[in-house]
Amino acid sequence: MMSVEDKLESAETRPPHVLIFPAPGQGHVNTILSLAELLALSDFQVTFLITPHIHNRLRRFAGDIEARHPNLTFETFGHGVLQNPALFGHNLKELAEQTKSQGKLKLRELCSEHSGKPKVGCIIVDALLGQVDSELGDELGIPIIHFRTASACSFWAYFNVPKLLQCNELPIKGEEDMDREITRIPGMENLVRCRDLPALCRGERKGTLSLDTLVYLALHSQQAKAVLMNTFEDLEGPVLSQLRRHFPSLYTLGPLHVLLNSKKASKTAAAAASGREEEKDRTCMRWLDAQPPKSVIYVSFGSVAVYTRAQLMEIWHGLMNSKKPFLWVIRHDLVAEPDGDQGLPAELQEGANERACIVEWAPQQEVLEHAAVGGFMTHSGWNSTLESMVAGVPMICWPLFGDQPTNSRYVSEVWKIGLDMKDTCDRKIVEKMVNDLMVERRQEFEKSAEALAALARKSAGEGGPSYSNFHRFIEYLKSIC
Ligand code: UDP
Repeated sequence: MMSVEDKLESAETRPPHVLIFPAPGQGHVNTILSLAELLALSDFQVTFLITPHIHNRLRRFAGDIEARHPNLTFETFGHGVLQNPALFGHNLKELAEQTKSQGKLKLRELCSEHSGKPKVGCIIVDALLGQVDSELGDELGIPIIHFRTASACSFWAYFNVPKLLQCNELPIKGEEDMDREITRIPGMENLVRCRDLPALCRGERKGTLSLDTLVYLALHSQQAKAVLMNTFEDLEGPVLSQLRRHFPSLYTLGPLHVLLNSKKASKTAAAAASGREEEKDRTCMRWLDAQPPKSVIYVSFGSVAVYTRAQLMEIWHGLMNSKKPFLWVIRHDLVAEPDGDQGLPAELQEGANERACIVEWAPQQEVLEHAAVGGFMTHSGWNSTLESMVAGVPMICWPLFGDQPTNSRYVSEVWKIGLDMKDTCDRKIVEKMVNDLMVERRQEFEKSAEALAALARKSAGEGGPSYSNFHRFIEYLKSIC
């Protein structure tokens, strides 16, 4: 029988167990999974809670993560909408509600079970699911940390919405001038217009979360023990110092994919085992290999955004008229037609012609790092923005919802690494923007994109601020687990 001393010693030598719960969107999962891998590489026991749909997708595109990290395990949960990928992107509200209610039960089960693993010492939850912890609250008696996967600038904008309502800068009224400046967000003066605020400030759309909910969640992160963000000081310093007045325990760890690569490089065994490359769709990489340097515009609107056929046709004609080769990711669920599903336009279904390569899903980080890619037309999701930034690829931003309109404003006006096409979709504008980015103003954009890429890599590389923050966070996590 174990003595009390032996028991104490074994509790001390067992790795701390962290339970991680991301929202089930590809962008959220990609970011938070990088953190999970980083914690596993730092000898934490990690349990990652996801839906079966996301789990399958990870298996297909990210290889056997559990084989690479024996101390990282996936737990799946969910039925109904959570198992129906066709609804993803079309009913985010339902998705979020089901994730919260079904996930809460699984969280409770995992926190109380005795499976041979150490007891859960901390939960890192996606801030978008923040209500889960307010509902479970003290019941679990386990410290909760929030991960905010979007940009600091959009988080700060949400945080300020109550104040903007109070001083009548919001709501945006009917058909008013969308170029009206918003003056009362500290650190964003002379920068943000109505059209650059998070999209919900314009009014709510069917199937989305409400503005009230997102504002509540922004404020609610003040209850968390700490807040983690995928950004870096050199990128969003002024906004981060504003946020720290309200969130003193805020760790910036970004760009996380760079931090993860730095750590993997120093753990040769993990790097060597990162196989299953053959499972990725590599057809577009071969196509890229055949294109001249910096000639291709890569077009992708992330994992959730949906557009009308008419909008996609404008993009298609604009790209064709630009005469530049392009690689376009067209997911099967990219088109939303209110009046009956007519599927993809024939031109897009036929896909490849002499200048176009169309795929269902691409290994985006690799694509952006490819020498042939000279520009990225993006919906300005935060992961896509950071990935493009790290690769030094200038962007054309066509934002749709969430933080995207704010991110795209920063891309064009603060970081000056691209053009903001928001609120227009016209083949002539697309053609002009592609030519401006890739030809007319190419040198200007390349110069600023390269400078920012160097800062991003330095930040998350060995000894950089995000790298050091990660080590501070590890110590903190051990202390609370
Ligand atoms: N992505 C990918 N292949 C694709 C399209 C997207 O790997 O063909 C990845 C991309 O690299 C990014 C994520 O999906 O990490 C999208 O996240 P983002 O925050 O940009 O947008 P969201 O999908 O959340 O709107």
